[in-house]
Order: sequence, then structure tokens, then C-alpha cells
Amino acid sequence: MSDILETIASRDPWEREFYQAVKEVVESVKPVLDRHPHYPESSVLDRITEPERVVTFRVPWMDDRGKVRTHRGYLVEMNSAIGPFKGGLRFHPSVNQSILKFLAFEQVFKNALTTLPLGGGAGGSDFEPKGKSDDEVMRFCQSFMRELFRHVGPHTDIPGGDIGVGGREVGYLFGAYKKLTNEFSGALTGKGLRWGGSLFRPEAAGYGCVYFAAEMLATRNMSLEDQVCLVSGSGNVAQHTAEKLIQLGAKVVTLSDSSGHIYDADGIDAEKLRYVKMLKNIRRGRIREYADKYPASVFTPAGAEAGRNPLWGHRADCAFPCATQNEIGETDAYTLINNTIKLVCEGANMPCSSEAIDIFLGKNILFAPGKAANAGGVAVSGLELVQNSMRLSWLGEEVDERLRIIMKAIHRTCLETAEEYGTPGNYLNGANIAAFLKVVNAMLDQGVV
Ligand code: NAP
Repeated sequence: MSDILETIASRDPWEREFYQAVKEVVESVKPVLDRHPHYPESSVLDRITEPERVVTFRVPWMDDRGKVRTHRGYLVEMNSAIGPFKGGLRFHPSVNQSILKFLAFEQVFKNALTTLPLGGGAGGSDFEPKGKSDDEVMRFCQSFMRELFRHVGPHTDIPGGDIGVGGREVGYLFGAYKKLTNEFSGALTGKGLRWGGSLFRPEAAGYGCVYFAAEMLATRNMSLEDQVCLVSGSGNVAQHTAEKLIQLGAKVVTLSDSSGHIYDADGIDAEKLRYVKMLKNIRRGRIREYADKYPASVFTPAGAEAGRNPLWGHRADCAFPCATQNEIGETDAYTLINNTIKLVCEGANMPCSSEAIDIFLGKNILFAPGKAANAGGVAVSGLELVQNSMRLSWLGEEVDERLRIIMKAIHRTCLETAEEYGTPGNYLNGANIAAFLKVVNAMLDQGVV
């Protein structure tokens, strides 16, 4: 088993995030490999950790001053055993092959948990949309799609949004795809409501994350009502996690962006969240402006204390990391434990380091891995594709009800599988093992391809 980790570490030593994501799965599935020797004999770990295809390409575009800029685009097609590749596109300066391979790898497992026939992939670029004009973002998206369109399509690879790719970017990408292919199809998800999008898609990852947390708390006879919650990030997932928490009677006291976090001891209510949405989605401002608008709250800049994030230092019952990978480290995990946190539910992908997860599991905290807890996003993308194929749009209540059913089903699968493989209550093992079995069995059915 450790052979595969050694191979990955020696072959691509700089791919730290990918290694972290694989290590977590490899450790979880050890009991499966021990119980069923035909899996190791078929080299399934070697095969599932190698992408089916990786494409990198040049993305040149012209800024508003007429200067030509060049970025690097990527598409990682990780696994198509159970359906076409499907994952997010990320535009952020930190994007590299390791980050996209980790995202694509996580996505394979997440998509398998949704019960929908979707394989896993990811793509993106080291382009930073923050601070760019709409015209610049459009020119970049058009250039990105001039290469991407060769590789994607409703039956091959169906990208959606992720960090830095929201409704605006998906619109420009879809417009370019349609122009290049002369086809109006469900080749992208996260589309606008007026042109093939699904109601509740923007809300789905955050709402689903909260539905999952509610299910976890119910196993210990608790609910979200009156629970004090820390939420990080202030983008799509954070906004909708906070929104559903508020609707269910919880008190959300933090939000953040890469420049720092705000703490509002009175709670961020629906009215204040409306302001955050306007600030972030329309004005594209910074979270520190929240503290100017609501002077009873406090803004703390990021990076003041090395090795810890002060957002996780506020006393609370539940934590929802919804910004980015590895935003809760070992010190943060101990701080949360000392503050008697009851639940950590990952809205982002891999926001907790391996050390932090070990600490939560060791202390019997309710811990939900992102591949289970934030799967509502891709689940509703799957529902968007169904609606596109049927050429109709479901009502919002119908989509929300399907989302709730899917999140309940994922929760049950995680619990039952964890129990079956000897680690009751361990959602991480449950998620990894259930998804692994589904994907590797499909791979074995399809032969050596
Ligand atoms: P988003 O709308 O672009 O928001 C990202 C948020 O995280 C922003 O507040 C951003 O702050 C912050 N952030 C990004 N990089 C950061 C960094 N290095 N340090 C500190 N803060 C950082 O993205 P999103 O769609 O909400 O995605 C958030 C997470 O959820 C990601 O892990 C993503 O993979 C995962 N996810 C997304 C979906 C989806 O449907 N969108 C579904 C499942 C999982 P700045 O504005 O300052 O950069």
C-alpha cells in the first residue's frame, strides 16, 4: 500500500496537495484491500491515482491597456469509470498541476457518492479575476475556451465553477463554447437561469453542507438551532452555508477572504448577509468593508500570526471551513478542540490538514470530509444536466428536495460503510471506502483501459 505513496512522492515530489489527497484515501481503504485481495492484485490503486489525461495549454489575452498577457491553462481528466469527467474550473494565482490533480482526485470520490453517473476531473488557470475589469475577464475566458472546447462536451467532460469561476465566468466560457462548436448543450454547469441553469445550483454546495451537518448532529440528538458557527470564506460556498445556517436558527459569527476575517458577536443575520452578497458578488469588494458597515464587528487582517488562523480562535459550537485547502492546521485544530467545538464540516475541498483531521477524529468530534459534505454542488450540477437533456426546468422546491434526499443518502452511506469496515462514526473512512468501491468495481468491469 505504501508503495503507491512512495511512487507518487518520488515521481512528482512537488505535488504536495495531490500526495495529501491520495494518502488520506489510501489509509482509509486499507481494510478493503486487506479483506478483498483481488483489488491489490488488480493494481487498482496505481490505476485510480493516475489521471486518464492531463492537458496544459497557453492562454494569451489582451488587458485593457492593450498589453498581451499569458497564463497557463490546465485540464485534469482523472477518472471516467462511472460517467463523463466532471469537476470545477479554478481561476486563482495559486493554481498548479498539484492543486488540480488533488481537486480532480477528490472529485472522483465525491461524484461517486452523489449516486449520479459522473466521473471526476478539474481544470483551471493561474489567472486572477480579482481586480480585473469585466472585459478583461471576458477576453481571458474566451481565450481559455479556444483550447478547452476541444476536450469538453456533454458526453466527455463537463466543467463547472470553483474558486474564481462564478456565474460571470461561466457565462463568458459558455458563450465562447457555443460560438466555437455551434452547439447549445449542457457542456458546462453553473449556467445562468435564463440559459439552461438550474434553480438552486448557486446555493447547492453550501445548503447541502448544512443539510449534511444537520444529519450528523441528529445522530447525537442535537440540531443546528442556537449553535454558534464559524464560517470561513465569503464566496459562493461560504455565503450559502451561512444563509442556510441562519435559516435553521444557528448564529454565524465569522466570514473571511484572503485579506482577513470579520467577527460579529451579534451574529450575521439575513440582512447583513444580503450586504455581504452585494459586497462580494456585485461590488467585488473586500470583507474588511463589513466592519465599516457594521461597527460592532471586528476585522482582523490575515497573516499576523504564522502557523495559525485567528478565525478559528473564536469560541463556537460548529466550524464550517468554506474558503480553500489546508486552512485549518494542527494548531487551529487544537484551538477548536480547546474551545469545545462539536462539529467540523468541510464546505471547501480539503480545508483541514491531515494533522488537523487526526486530531478531530482522535477526540471523537463530528467531522465531515468535503467530498461528502460539499457534494451537493456537483449533485445539483448533475440535476442541471438532466434538465438540459429533457429541455425543461424544475421548480426550485423540487431541486431543493432532491438535494436534501441526496445529502441524506450520502450521510447514510458514509455511516453504514464506516460501520461495516470497523470504524463506526468515522465519516472520512465511510466516504472514502464507499466511493472507492463504486469506482474500482466499475473500472474492473471495464477491463484494463
Ligand atoms: P469563491 O466563490 O471564489 O470563494 C472563495 C473564497 O475563499 C473567497 O472568499 C476567497 O477570498 C477565499 N480564498 C480563496 N483562496 C484563499 C486563500 N488562499 N486564502 C484565504 N482565502 C482564500 O469559491 P467557492 O466556489 O466558494 O469555493 C470555495 C471552496 O469550496 C473551494 O475549496 C472549492 O473547491 C470548494 N467547492 C466549491 C463548490 C462550488 O460549487 N463552487 C462546490 C464544492 C466545493 P478572496 O476573494 O480574497 O480570494
